[in-house]
Amino acid sequence: MTVHGFPASYAGQHLQIAIVGRGFSGLMMAIALMKSVSQPFQLRMFDPQPVISGGQALATARATEILNSRARDLSVSTGEPRDFTRWLQAYQHFREAVSAAIPGFGQIFVPKAIFSDYVYQRFSEALAERTDVSIQMSHEAITRIRRNETGRFTLGLADGSEAAYDTVVLATGYGLKVPPEGKEQDTEAALRNPSIRARHVVVMGNGLRAVNQVLQLRDGGFEGRITILSRRGFLPQPHTRMPADAVCPSQPMPSQLRHIVRFVRKACAQAEENGWSWQAAMNGLRKRARTLWASLPPSEKRQFNRHLRAIYDSHRNRLPADVHERLERELAGGMTELKRGTTLKRSPDGLIVRWAGQSTEEHFAADEVIDCRCLSPDLNDPVVADLLRAGLASTDELDLGLAVNPAGELLTPCGRPAGLFAIGPLGLGSLPDIDLVPEIVTQAYTAATLINARSRPQLQAG
Ligand SMILES: Cc1cc2nc3c(=O)[nH]c(=O)nc-3n(C[C@H](O)[C@H](O)[C@H](O)COP(=O)(O)OP(=O)(O)OC[C@H]3O[C@@H](n4cnc5c(N)ncnc54)[C@H](O)[C@@H]3O)c2cc1C
Repeated sequence: MTVHGFPASYAGQHLQIAIVGRGFSGLMMAIALMKSVSQPFQLRMFDPQPVISGGQALATARATEILNSRARDLSVSTGEPRDFTRWLQAYQHFREAVSAAIPGFGQIFVPKAIFSDYVYQRFSEALAERTDVSIQMSHEAITRIRRNETGRFTLGLADGSEAAYDTVVLATGYGLKVPPEGKEQDTEAALRNPSIRARHVVVMGNGLRAVNQVLQLRDGGFEGRITILSRRGFLPQPHTRMPADAVCPSQPMPSQLRHIVRFVRKACAQAEENGWSWQAAMNGLRKRARTLWASLPPSEKRQFNRHLRAIYDSHRNRLPADVHERLERELAGGMTELKRGTTLKRSPDGLIVRWAGQSTEEHFAADEVIDCRCLSPDLNDPVVADLLRAGLASTDELDLGLAVNPAGELLTPCGRPAGLFAIGPLGLGSLPDIDLVPEIVTQAYTAATLINARSRPQLQAG
């Protein structure tokens, strides 16, 4: 077994950091480290994906795919909330590319590809400014993480080798479950084939991915029937056309779920009465979501997940107004239908489904089934499962993801920080909305500041 990492001349002198995963969370963490860690350091970023793809949110971006967050919420620069909008103003292709522009840069929705360009530019600028930082991209998957006797972390690589680091950041998001290479393109090519154009496609799910998929099928020329198959049947709600700045009710939030639901309804109704919008009230309430979630007992958290999660998600992950109108036209046109039912299993020519309100199973024929159900952290992922077995991590109360504090530090079963970090969706059960860009940005900088503070005594002692 070889032990490799950074060049031997550096070993022991510079802080050595590993980031596992090069999706948005991984890239964001790298930017935050370069901006926050004052010591020279060496960073290695692991991901078996052959390209630096930007992960699930940006990887498959086509020119027409619009991000669902307003430009004003997408800065990757801490303390400079207008960094992205300033960058946009200087971006020459911006005006042609933005289809949903309204006056005021901050309110617009931009294509994913533009956001991706911005993130990469900020990443390379941060690197150019740090001549004392070296970054190595590795195409190996990580299979195992262990703390060794010196307190460092040893990563097991898929090729059987090992490498040791002072700090390890997991940014593995939704895991390695990506479609086999070429599968997405195969599906799209098949759907453009005239022999199946008049046929039936089922899109499983009801979130942003499902809506994106339906609209992409139409953009790609598919003229057949589409069924959006969803357990609860709540599709994403629209953003307002005008800014929906957060409005927060002045009254204290109640602490029991049933009172909270009433409180939220009232706050939304009041916002509408006062000439704002329910979206503005939701934006305000979301600012309290983290404290509120932490205060709920496990039984109420479970109740929320069972009965309210789907409604909450459809109101928090909103579609730009133009895209929402397009979805409504699509549904009104009759060739796309939303059906409520639970998928029990796939069959060679469709699905076995239990329709909402019925107790019997039924075969639902489809020429193609595309799974766009909400992604969640995979606790059976080998690395995650191994960390749990080794006691270096624990799950949150509901087993939705890994237990983390706001800085993304993994918590051991006795609630102590394990010295490892998990940025982004892996912490979804502990921190509501940590799968969204603004929350990931804040968490990455909090983690990087902590790593900076901890690296000082360690380097001085070394
Ligand atoms: C379609 C879509 C649209 C979205 N739109 C928005 C939006 O408009 N606004 C917003 O705020 N948020 C949006 N999001 C949400 C947000 O951007 C995502 O939560 C974010 O992309 C998560 O990124 P990630 O890097 O944590 O995870 P991922 O994108 O899943 O990346 C994880 C990476 O880790 C790698 N990996 C996994 N396991 C290993 C391993 N063992 N070893 C090495 N590498 C590994 C994977 O190969 C992958 O590349 C969207 C998400 C999706 C899917």
